[in-house]
Amino acid sequence: MKNNILKYFLKYVKIDTMSMEGQSTTPSTKKQFNLAKILVDDLAELGLKDINLNDNCIVTAYLPSNCNSKLNIGFIAHMDTIPGFSGTNVKPNVINNYDGNTIKLNNIELNPNKFPFLKNLKGKTLITTDGTTVLGADDKAGIANIMTMLKYYHDNPTLKHVNIHVAFTPDEEIGGGIFSFDVKKFGCDYAYTVDGEPYNEINYENFNAKTINVEIKGLDIHPGSAKGQMINASRVAMEFDSLLSDFNRPEYTDGYDGFNHLCEIKGEVGYANMSYILRNHDEKLLDKQVNEFKNACEFLNKKYTFDTVKLEIIDSYSNMRQLIEKDDRCIKRAIAAIKACGFIPNTVPIRGGTDGAKLTQMGLNTPNLGTGGYNCHGPYECACLEEMENVVKILIEIAKE
Ligand SMILES: [Zn+2]
Repeated sequence: MKNNILKYFLKYVKIDTMSMEGQSTTPSTKKQFNLAKILVDDLAELGLKDINLNDNCIVTAYLPSNCNSKLNIGFIAHMDTIPGFSGTNVKPNVINNYDGNTIKLNNIELNPNKFPFLKNLKGKTLITTDGTTVLGADDKAGIANIMTMLKYYHDNPTLKHVNIHVAFTPDEEIGGGIFSFDVKKFGCDYAYTVDGEPYNEINYENFNAKTINVEIKGLDIHPGSAKGQMINASRVAMEFDSLLSDFNRPEYTDGYDGFNHLCEIKGEVGYANMSYILRNHDEKLLDKQVNEFKNACEFLNKKYTFDTVKLEIIDSYSNMRQLIEKDDRCIKRAIAAIKACGFIPNTVPIRGGTDGAKLTQMGLNTPNLGTGGYNCHGPYECACLEEMENVVKILIEIAKE
């Protein structure tokens, strides 16, 4: 099985599929079709039905049940890699029987003291970058795992399985690829994104997310004659930020803590604006954070007797937990599968959003599973082949009759 995983994985990571912010089309980059077309061929080789690649670069396919099961389960992974770091000319580096020491890769190093998970991977097979690109384990490890699960059922036709649906999607990293996904046509009872890190993790809680833009209008007067009149928008912006709780910042928070993150600030005397993202797993606590912004706005508008501060509050995405708990068959099945493989399931809240959170809102409950990849979004990215194999075993178990 490991050979199959490695064969698929090394083939896929070598194909540049970097997505790009700020594009008006899906996919954001045409090169994502290069991988999509290869996946179409690989799915055909494994005998899947209804293989389709649409104009938005979404690949879907179907493996009908061989036991009249009525259950339809989806497996989803994304094809793109992050826009922030090069995905061109990826040269994967396979390290057999990892000795547990620091790995030197051109001008960077993977140091177990800095990345403690490496200590658990001693003796395992690691796949790293050469230090100059991403690896693309996020999420080609997910794709390779799903493909190997399909290959397993292809090679073992007597093993009974449910109706298996797969989808490979573009532009996850820029949060845009999933909106055109046809949930109804996909026809699943529920699905899983295979896009996490440790093999035994399940994620079905993510942040509730809002964006708040703060617009500040000042009163720009010649500084020589400004006494009692000037309102310096840049100073009001600083004052506004100082009215928010200090410890609600990303650098002070983890686990279930929410935060307000000041992403951008621009200011002159006459005009300033700030953009914040607000995150919390708990909707009510997020509302509290929003109220703090409203209170700061009201306070400053009273102080400056002027229509100085204006807020624009935008809903971004919400926690899938509320919806998944209404029909948690997907969680029960994943936990049972992980246990049946002899592993210990670990449910961990995601401090971000996922395509699965959007799909859940679109009516398809879609928690997230691990891939065996680590350190995503940069040159430190790596994957552990044995953990990927564990993921494949879990996927096989989930799809079992
Ligand atoms: Zn990902």
